[in-house]
Amino acid sequence: MNVTDELRPCPFCGGKARIKHLYYVDGDDPTHSKVECGTCHIGTTYYVYQYGDRNVIDIWNRRSDELDR
Ligand SMILES: [Zn+2]
Repeated sequence: MNVTDELRPCPFCGGKARIKHLYYVDGDDPTHSKVECGTCHIGTTYYVYQYGDRNVIDIWNRRSDELDR
């Protein structure tokens, strides 16, 4: 299952959210990740990737819950 399937739509424009990663120049694993709307580009800040994408997915979805009412 693709993790992006867990992402809620953007709370501002309803666009499809996606995960972005930052890498060291020579690194294989991401150093930071964030969730960003593919349409209006609003998103979370970058979080350390130590625990994977789970962290930013939860933050994004929680924010979407708070604003979507
Ligand atoms: Zn948006």
